[in-house]
This record gives sequence, C-alpha cells and structure tokens, in this order.
Amino acid sequence: MKNTYKTKAREEIISYLKNHPEQRLTAREIYEAVCDGEKTVDRTTIYRNLDRLCENGGLMRFKEPNQESWYYQYSSDHEHCDRHMHAQCSVCGKVFHLDRPFVDAFAEGMIKEYGLDISPADTVILGKCSECKGIKRS
Ligand SMILES: [Zn+2]
Ligand SMILES: [Zn+2]
Repeated sequence: MKNTYKTKAREEIISYLKNHPEQRLTAREIYEAVCDGEKTVDRTTIYRNLDRLCENGGLMRFKEPNQESWYYQYSSDHEHCDRHMHAQCSVCGKVFHLDRPFVDAFAEGMIKEYGLDISPADTVILGKCSECKGIKRS
C-alpha cells in the first residue's frame, strides 16, 4: 500500500502526456494538470517521475533558446530518448528523433576530431522543418 500514492502520480503524468503528445509542456503545466486543483501531489514527486520518464520512456526534455526552464515533450513512438540526439524546428516546435546511423557516425566523429563526447539527452539541433520552409510569409 505504501507505493499507491506514488504510482498514481506516475500514472496520471503518463496519461496526461499521452493526451498531449508532441506538445511542449513545462513541468509546471504537468504539475498543475496532475494536481487538478488539489494539493495532493508534491512537486518533488512530479519532477522525480519526469526524470525517470526521460531515462526510460519516450519523454524528452530540452531548453528553449534564451529560456531558463526545461520543456518536456512526449513521443509515444519513441523510447530511449536519452540515448539519441534530437533536432527541433525553431518555428513550429516539431521534434525529430535522431536515431539513425549517420547521427552515431557524427557523434563518433566529434569524439575523434574534437575530443567532445556529446551528451545525447542534452543535445538539440535547431533548424527549420520542410513544412515551415514551405510557408510563404505575406
Ligand atoms: Zn527521442
Ligand atoms: Zn516547423
């Protein structure tokens, strides 16, 4: 019975994330949604669960340029988001999971050429996706 409360928090977080896939969410938004006006879950529990989901599940976190706080984004199709880098469209926020071999080759090249060991979980390459490039500004 000891773990019921914590398990419930975790389930609520996951179900909230599943209902909002591919969206940028702050920890605060997730916290408020899970609490739903009641102060039954403490903030630390939420953060701890988010950390764990980043390690094991399809949750990735990243920082917006010039922003202090972390954003979280859930992808139902992806796992091990801590093991690959991500790219993001700076216009619409779409995230690409860079789990292709050429990305690993790039990471190996970085070590070889520059001695820099990339930490995949913290690396987001910014760009403009093909859809956003197609939008003409009037
Ligand atoms: Zn990913
Ligand atoms: Zn875009």
